[in-house]
Amino acid sequence: MNTKEIMNLDSKYVMQTYGRQPLALVKGKGSTVWDAEGKSYVDCVAGIAVNNVGHSNPKVAEAICEQAKNLIHTSNLYYTEQQVTLAKLLAEISSHQKSFFCNSGAEANEGAIKLARKHTGKGEIITMENSFHGRTITTITATGQKKYQKGFEPLTPGFKYVPYCDVEAVSDTIGSETAAVLVEPIQGEGGVIIPQNDYLKNLKEVCHDKDVLLIFDEVQTGFGRTGEMFASQSFGVTPDITTVAKAIAGGFPMGAVLANEVGDTFEPGDHAATFGGSPLACAAAKASINFILEEKLLEKSKENGSYFLNKLNIIKENNEIVKDVRGMGLMIGMELDVECAKLVDDMRERGIIINCAAGNVLRFVPPLVITKNQINLVSSALEDALGKFS
Ligand SMILES: *Cc1c(COP(=O)(O)O)cnc(C)c1O
Repeated sequence: MNTKEIMNLDSKYVMQTYGRQPLALVKGKGSTVWDAEGKSYVDCVAGIAVNNVGHSNPKVAEAICEQAKNLIHTSNLYYTEQQVTLAKLLAEISSHQKSFFCNSGAEANEGAIKLARKHTGKGEIITMENSFHGRTITTITATGQKKYQKGFEPLTPGFKYVPYCDVEAVSDTIGSETAAVLVEPIQGEGGVIIPQNDYLKNLKEVCHDKDVLLIFDEVQTGFGRTGEMFASQSFGVTPDITTVAKAIAGGFPMGAVLANEVGDTFEPGDHAATFGGSPLACAAAKASINFILEEKLLEKSKENGSYFLNKLNIIKENNEIVKDVRGMGLMIGMELDVECAKLVDDMRERGIIINCAAGNVLRFVPPLVITKNQINLVSSALEDALGKFS
C-alpha cells in the first residue's frame, strides 16, 4: 500500500486520537526508517525513546522469533524461566531487588501508586506540575497538565500538585495522609526539563525525613537514555520505587514496577496483569538489556549525547529563535521561541524525523546506536531549516 492508501484507511477505520505526520513507516534498521514510498529518514524520535537498541535489532528479533516458537504466553498462575531471569537481570542493573511486570508506562505508574497506597495505608500522592505519567484516568490525574485531563472528569481523588524543581513546595505539601511523591527525574513530555543537580537528592531527603515514599517515573529516562542505565544513577539518588516501560524490551510492549522491601507489601491477589511479563516480552527485554550492556550503549549515549549537544549549541549561537539547548545523554531538547510544528514538517522533507514536546521544544531522543555521521546530517539539516525559518 502507498502512503495515501494507508492514510485513507486510517481516517475511515481508526479512532482519530493522534495528530499524525503524513508518513507511513514500513521498515527500520538502526537509526534509519523507511516510508511506504521507499524514502529513508534519520530517526530522532525512536518511537518516543523506545528503540534505544535500534530498529529491528537483530538480537532482539532473534530472541522474539526463538521464544515465539516455544511459548508466547502463559498465565502468571505459572512460573516461567524467562520472567525470573529478567527480574534477576533488572536487580543487577538497578538499585531494586524486585519487579512486577505489566505492559506499559501508564500501567507501571498505576501499579506504583497502588503499591505506595497499600504500603503506607495512606491515599495522597504528590506529583509535579508539567509532568506526564500516562493516559489512564489515574495517570492523567497524576499528570500535572490540565490539557490531558479536560473532558475526562471525574478524576481520581487523592492527588496534589507542586511546581517541578521546588523541594520546599513538596515539603510544605506533605501531610499526615501523604503516601508518596511521584516525579520524573527529567521531564520528557513537559519539554525535556532537566532539574538542577541537587534537586532529586534534596527531594529524597525530604521524603525520607517525612517518611513518604519517593517514586521515580523512569518510563522515558530508563535504559541508557541519559547515559546511565537509569537517570537515578546519573543523579546518584535511589528512589523507593521506579517505574519503567518504553525502551525496556527493544520496542516490544512491556512495563515494570521496581522496588526493594516496599515490593513485599504486595500479596497474592493484590495486583495482576494477564499479559504482564509474558515469556515473549521477557525474552525481548533480556536481549535488549544485554545488547545495551554488551555494545556499551551507555558510553555511546554519553559520548554521542555530548557530541550532539555541542553541535546544537553551535546552531543556537547562530539562530536567535533558539532559546535554549539542554540534554543529558541522548535525551536532548532545543527550545525555540516559536511553535516547532512547521520545523518538524521541514525536517521531515529533508529526511529527518523529529518530534516536538510542549509545543516549542524540539526533542531529540534517537536510538542510542545513532552514528556521528547521522548526527552531522541532522545538525546540518537543522541549520538549513532554521536559517529558512528566521
Ligand atoms: C510515555 C510515558 C508514560 C506513559 O507510557 P505508556 O506506555 O504510553 O503508557 C509515562 N511516563 C512517562 C515519563 C512517559 O514518558
